[in-house]
Amino acid sequence: MKKNTIEVTSKVCKSCDTEKPIEDFRLHKSGYRLGKCYVCEKLSWKIKRRHSEPVTLSITTKSGNVFVGSTVPINGGKKITSSYSDKVLYVSPSITRDQSRSMFEVYGNVKRNQISVKLV
Ligand SMILES: [Zn+2]
Repeated sequence: MKKNTIEVTSKVCKSCDTEKPIEDFRLHKSGYRLGKCYVCEKLSWKIKRRHSEPVTLSITTKSGNVFVGSTVPINGGKKITSSYSDKVLYVSPSITRDQSRSMFEVYGNVKRNQISVKLV
C-alpha cells in the first residue's frame, strides 16, 4: 500500500527562526513535532531551572558580619572565585574586595589569599 503523505524533512524553529532538519525537533508523545528545536528547548529548561533555584544567599563572615551574595551575576558587581574551590559567588558593587574575600572564605572554605575578586 502506497502512502500519500508528504514527508516533512525540515522545519523552522519558532524560537530561533532557523530552518533545521526535522530530527532536531522532539517528537511529542501524541505524535506531533514540537515547535522549538532541541537547542531552544534545552535553553528554556535552563532558564526555568535557574528561576526555581535560590539565587541569593546570606553569608556570615568569621568576624560575624552578614552579607548577601548571589549564585548568578549581578550587574556591575563582583565575581569571586578560587582555584581551590568550584564555587562561584557574585556580590553587589557596594561590597568591598575585603568583604568579598571574607564572604568567600566561609562560602568556599578556602584561605583568603586563595581568593580572587574580579569586576563583572
Ligand atoms: Zn530553535
